Amino acid sequence: MPFFRTTAVVITFAFALSLGTAAAPVDQNASAQDVDPSIRPGDDFYRYANGGWLRTAVIPAGQPSFDTRAILVEKTSQRVRNLIQEAASAQPGKGSVAQKVGDYYASFIDEDSIEAKGLTPLADEMATISAITNKASLSGYLGTTLNSEVDGLTANADHIFGVWVNQGFAESEHYVFHLFQGGLGMPDRDDYIDSSPKMAELRALYKSHIAAALKLVNVADPETKAARILALEVRMAQAHAPDADAADVFKQNNPWKRTDFGVKAPGMDWDAYFAAAGVAGQPELIVWQPSAVTGTSALVGSENIDLWKDYLRFHLIEHYAGVLPKAVAAEHFAFYGTILAGAQQRPERGPDAIAATNAALGQAVGELYTQRYFPPEAKAKAQAMVADLIIAYRGRISNLNWMSPHTKEKALAKLAALRIGVGYPDKWIDYSTFEVVRGDAFGNMRRAEAFNRSRNLAKLRQPADPDEWRIDPQIVGAVIVFSPNTETFSAGILQPPYFDSQGDAASNYGSAGAGIAHEISHSFDELGNIYDAQGRLGNWWSAEDLAKYHAAAEQLVAQFNGYCPLPGLCVNGKQALSENIADLAGLLVAHDAYVLSLKGKGDTVIGGLSGEQRFFLAFAQRWRKAQSEAALRRQVATDHHAPGEYRSDAVRNVEAWYKAFGVAPGDKLYLRAEDRVGIW
Ligand SMILES: [Zn+2]
Repeated sequence: MPFFRTTAVVITFAFALSLGTAAAPVDQNASAQDVDPSIRPGDDFYRYANGGWLRTAVIPAGQPSFDTRAILVEKTSQRVRNLIQEAASAQPGKGSVAQKVGDYYASFIDEDSIEAKGLTPLADEMATISAITNKASLSGYLGTTLNSEVDGLTANADHIFGVWVNQGFAESEHYVFHLFQGGLGMPDRDDYIDSSPKMAELRALYKSHIAAALKLVNVADPETKAARILALEVRMAQAHAPDADAADVFKQNNPWKRTDFGVKAPGMDWDAYFAAAGVAGQPELIVWQPSAVTGTSALVGSENIDLWKDYLRFHLIEHYAGVLPKAVAAEHFAFYGTILAGAQQRPERGPDAIAATNAALGQAVGELYTQRYFPPEAKAKAQAMVADLIIAYRGRISNLNWMSPHTKEKALAKLAALRIGVGYPDKWIDYSTFEVVRGDAFGNMRRAEAFNRSRNLAKLRQPADPDEWRIDPQIVGAVIVFSPNTETFSAGILQPPYFDSQGDAASNYGSAGAGIAHEISHSFDELGNIYDAQGRLGNWWSAEDLAKYHAAAEQLVAQFNGYCPLPGLCVNGKQALSENIADLAGLLVAHDAYVLSLKGKGDTVIGGLSGEQRFFLAFAQRWRKAQSEAALRRQVATDHHAPGEYRSDAVRNVEAWYKAFGVAPGDKLYLRAEDRVGIW
């Protein structure tokens, strides 16, 4: 099966992103009230645990599904919206985090001010483009567009190249320069080179969009220029790495000496480029897509300067469309919103303004969010749970009988080095040098970009900080980064019913605990086993260990092949294997950790349920989901995660579950001891 061998994985605790918008009752303590006592736990644990919820859950109109995550996304985005709007109306002290957040939002949403300024905010930059006369000045200008807008997850920069400042694949101690391809207006390389009629039509629409955008800024002869700009982008796309390469991180590890660029990628005046970018002193860069660097540089050398200038004018308008007059923003949306994303009508300005504020000041908003919703006591509780999970994992790995001592040693070292962040970062980004001016939406966006760029470039060659956060605390999600060796679980995901710092430990360990342990297991499986304890790239499992791991996994493949939600529709155990292994590992480890957390004290009964019962109930309730038949069929066909019911059925492999609910031979979910799987 294909594995995405990337540096990082963004995790949504449940399945694929499902941004439900309908308000639904949020259960603070889901455990007891959603149980359907008419169902025997040993016959159908998922419906026993979720029967009440499933009966009342309504899939919002136009959505394929509805689940806990959708509820949390809606609830959290309301909170974030309120916080930002409060900051905008409260007139907080100048220079404070709240002032920046409030003024950024207020400026972005103020369409009248934006309209009144017309295109004047673009004038300086347009003049700079017009002043380009030769290859050196073109290269210098391109250098100024090098932006830190990419990371290991979004590989295509908005400008011809993007920089990601991260530790090296081999050199883990320092931040190094990762150079990415970019420069295409359409999202996918295939949009440019696929010869199907559908893609040819898309290119024609894109060309019309380029012409329309140029016309709006009074560029002469926009149709001819649009055709040439599209042709230039097609040639750039031909040089871009195919998507298949993006899934293999080994292909991205191409260290180039600074002096290699002139030899391997002639065309660009690289001295001018790197000097203007402010990174002339970098001795070595990691080039993720060498063909794109070579190809684009050749085009800088070969193509007409005036064509490049038109290309740059067009992309300047595109880049700032959100903070330019309505006609520009509307044309931008007509292509990206309507044609590419299929949106029927332009959304209101409000959600865009919230998104823009989060993008520019993510941790500032996160600071406001956690001050109100995730206090230090919540963080301490989550940290204590993580500490128990690590101890439990250590015990499990130490006791594995299929892993060789050598690999075990490496796995334990990786576990010991793993940094897990919860809630919010220990150290916030210092935004003090980022000035936000009310009424200057364009200037604010420019200053936000300059701030992020100089903040990131200043880190180059500095010691790498594995505790740096790559997800904002107010996002309902988590991120695993293999390089460095870190995982982060935001305050947005660490909330009820997944985690309640004031609530029941058994439920917390069974829900968020199992989720965190699931993600930890990816550090050791076929996603993570190509990165070592320091996040350096390289295989550390022996072939023999891998073979034994696969043999142990076969039983789990068979178990899931037997799950058929509809007649003729059965789960593909191989396709969902690595996620099923992670679920099982997560459940086993979280249970060990829960037992550890009791510190020898006895179980407590709450609402008639023992701690053991509440632990497994919370686990089964993690997976509840209402979905349409079409969505279910799509999930079984394409998703690497099995439907929630079967993820919940991981309990069948755990002895403690049998004890907790008195499950015995004859019950539908009963498995004989030899049929239970325990890989980790
Ligand atoms: Zn997973």
